[in-house]
Amino acid sequence: MTTFETLSVSPLMKALVRELGYEKMTPIQAESIPVLLEGRDLIGQSKTGSGKTAAFTIPILERIHIEQSATRDIQALILCPTRELCSQVTREVRKLGRKKIGLQVLEVAGGMPVFPQKKALESGVHVVVGTPGRVLDHLQRGTLNLSSVKFIVLDEADRMLDMGFEDDMKTVMNALPEQRQTIFFSATFPPNIIKLSSKFQKNAVMVKIAQTPEDQASLSTISQKFIVVKEEEQKPEAVFQLLANESPDSAIVFCNFKTTTFELTELLAAEGVSVACLNGDMEQRQRDLVMARFRNQSIRVLIATDVAARGIDIAGLDLVINFELPKMRENYTHRVGRTGRAGKDGKAVSFIRENEKSKVAGLIAQSGAVSHPPIAEYVKKTLPRYDLGSKMETIVILEGRKNKMRPGDVLGALTGEAGGLKGKDIGKIEVHDFHTFVAVSRDVAKVALRCLQSGRIKGRRVRVEWPK
Ligand code: ADP
Ligand code: MG
Repeated sequence: MTTFETLSVSPLMKALVRELGYEKMTPIQAESIPVLLEGRDLIGQSKTGSGKTAAFTIPILERIHIEQSATRDIQALILCPTRELCSQVTREVRKLGRKKIGLQVLEVAGGMPVFPQKKALESGVHVVVGTPGRVLDHLQRGTLNLSSVKFIVLDEADRMLDMGFEDDMKTVMNALPEQRQTIFFSATFPPNIIKLSSKFQKNAVMVKIAQTPEDQASLSTISQKFIVVKEEEQKPEAVFQLLANESPDSAIVFCNFKTTTFELTELLAAEGVSVACLNGDMEQRQRDLVMARFRNQSIRVLIATDVAARGIDIAGLDLVINFELPKMRENYTHRVGRTGRAGKDGKAVSFIRENEKSKVAGLIAQSGAVSHPPIAEYVKKTLPRYDLGSKMETIVILEGRKNKMRPGDVLGALTGEAGGLKGKDIGKIEVHDFHTFVAVSRDVAKVALRCLQSGRIKGRRVRVEWPK
């Protein structure tokens, strides 16, 4: 067991990880952080959810200087493949940097207006978290100066290559100073990563965390079931029955095709299920909103493709359903591993065809059981009442961090004399750069919306929306 105490990092950082409740380092952190603190280049690989973000963020934050930055030059650049990952990493960097007074972190992702990013870049930031395309865009417009970058991270490097960002990435890398630390992290280790490394890194240390014993153990706390489905048409009904039976607070149904996600979402919504889909065809803004609403329990069931969901940190799901087995075997572990985290019991159910039984024979022998879909009649009889609606609703305030909005301001406006709501009716308040998501109990959602529409926050009127 390796605690953060053993690291040569500042007392403030040690205090922070204690506050966050991180008791010990994850294996990738234990192996990477000391190497990165020495300033060496590194390629790190470990599975999704193993704490890679903190593995590179802690050593970088330790070595960023706030005092010398009256000009606030960009010292660290973190590239991520998708907008969701950018905002997730940005949140994590801000969380780990919250004791570093004055630290400015900016998200520079595609799918967002360029102008506010340009303004923020002009005023100066220490850390930029961005997608390769948008970062390149700013570079070419001359609104982003990378000449002071000391740390470059390619997060989910494998995925950026998959998504065709190779050229953009290379152009960005070539705009960086020669003297720098170059850090790659990914969940898999394809050969083209090694090629990229030999081109852009110097004597990189390789850290690989093996998949086997621990992962098997963690997967074995998950109940894995398989349901043999003869007709494709049976599946939506079977999903609904599973949801009604399990009544999960948070569940994901994984599908291999985007069209399936749309169709299934529509069918379940018609049954009164709180559901939304997440796939690569949706606009970024829409995807952000869906993720925020899923995190704050305004959506109970997410219907997602692997591409849209991979790498996203959604912990502690009650139920994962595989609408079909993933095409790539490793995705099975990625999908199913999202349930049963943090010692909670997890449940995974996969629909398979008769001829796929042999594919999962090993898993069936280990922990799984095979069954056929429950009979509709039975379910209807035993489940006369079900409530698969959401607990919370989300209100969007069209102001955010850049307007100096803080969670406390929103909480104050809702629970103060003017608002009159109870603290227990207010859920997660997520402040982004230009907007804020507020979760409120479904029962008081309308009251809360009126309160924010007619009232003031910090003495100002704010624009408020009801996302749909
Ligand atoms: P990865 O990038 O490997 O998929 P993340 O960096 O997203 O994983 O981390 C997954 C979750 O684990 C995050 O919620 C993070 O806050 C949490 N976490 C990171 N390090 C630790 C730790 N040492 N102890 C407990 N939780 C941690
Ligand atoms: Mg990650």
